[in-house]
Amino acid sequence: MTIGFIGLGNMGTPMAQNLIKAGYHLQVYNRTIAKADELEQASITKCNTPAEAAANVQFVVSMLSEDEILKEAVSGENGLLHTFPKGGVHISMSTISPETSQLLSGLHEQAGSHYIAAPVFGRPEAAAAKKLFVCTSGAALHKAAAQPILEALGQSVTDFGEDAGAANVLKIAGNFMIIASLELMAEAFTLAEKNGLDRVAVANFFGSTLFNAPIYQNYGKLIANKQYQPVGFKARLGLKDARLAIKLSQTSHTPMPLAMLAHNRLLTAVAKGGGDNDWVEAFGKGVTDDAGI
Ligand code: NAD
Repeated sequence: MTIGFIGLGNMGTPMAQNLIKAGYHLQVYNRTIAKADELEQASITKCNTPAEAAANVQFVVSMLSEDEILKEAVSGENGLLHTFPKGGVHISMSTISPETSQLLSGLHEQAGSHYIAAPVFGRPEAAAAKKLFVCTSGAALHKAAAQPILEALGQSVTDFGEDAGAANVLKIAGNFMIIASLELMAEAFTLAEKNGLDRVAVANFFGSTLFNAPIYQNYGKLIANKQYQPVGFKARLGLKDARLAIKLSQTSHTPMPLAMLAHNRLLTAVAKGGGDNDWVEAFGKGVTDDAGI
C-alpha cells in the first residue's frame, strides 16, 4: 500500500524507515527533500508539496515540528486538503495543541476526509527501534483503519477517546511530567555532586530502586554523565511543549507552578543560543551552571 508521509525530521526519518520495513511505499514530502536520501529509494516517491504527498492515497502520516507548520501543510496553498481523496485518514503525530487537532479535524470533515491525533512518546532511538508509545484520539472507525500503520511504528497504541484533541492533552501532560523530572534529577544529582558524591552512582541507585522507571533511567544517565549529544529533541521544541502546557493550564484554570519553572529553564537555554541543543542540556547544564560547576 502507498501512503503519504510528511516531515522527515529527527523523528519522522526513523518512523518512515519503519513504515518502509513494514512494506509500505511512501510518497514523502519534506521542506528539505535531500533528507529523503536517507530512505530506501525503491520504496519512496519524492514529492514537492504536501498536496503531492497526499494524492491518491488512503492515509497520510505527518510528523512536522509545530502547530502553525502543520496547519500550513494541511490547509495552506500547497496543503494536503487540495488533493487528499474523500474518505482518506490523516494520522497527525506531532506534539500540538488540542485546539489545532480539533480545527484540523473540522477542516478534514468539511473536505470529506478524516483526521486522527496520534502523538508519541519516545526519542529518535526509540522511534528507530519501533519502541514508541502511541496515543490516539478521534473517531473509532478511522483509528481502527489506522491501527496497522500505528503498530508498525510503536510498541503500544493507547486510545483516549473520540475528541480529536484528547491525545494531545495527554501528550502535553506527559511532556510536562518529563520536564519536571529533568529539573528534579538535575537538581538532585548536582546537590549530591557538590556534597562529594559521584552523580553517576546516585543516578544508578535511584534508577534501580525508588525511581525505577524509563524516564529516570534513560534521562537520568544523560544528566548524571552530563552527556548532551547527540541531539534527540531540540530545546526550542521542548519550549514549544512547555508553552502548550502553560496555555492549556491557563485556558482550563489549572495552576501549574512547576510548568512555569521548567518553561523558564527552557526559555533561558533558548535565549542563550541553545535552541538547537538537546532539551536535557537546558536542565542539566542550566542547574550545574547555577551551582557554579
Ligand atoms: P525536527 O525539528 O527534527 O523536525 C521537524 C520537521 O518539521 C522536519 O520535517 C522539518 O522539515 C519540518 N519543518 C520545520 N519547520 C518547517 C517549516 N517552516 N516549513 C516546513 N516544514 C518545516 O523535529 P522532531 O524532533 O522530529 O519532532 C517532530 C515532532 O514530534 C514535534 O512536534 C515534536 O515535538 C514531536 N516529538 C519529538 C520527539 C523527539 O524526541 N525528538 C519525541 C516525541 C515527539
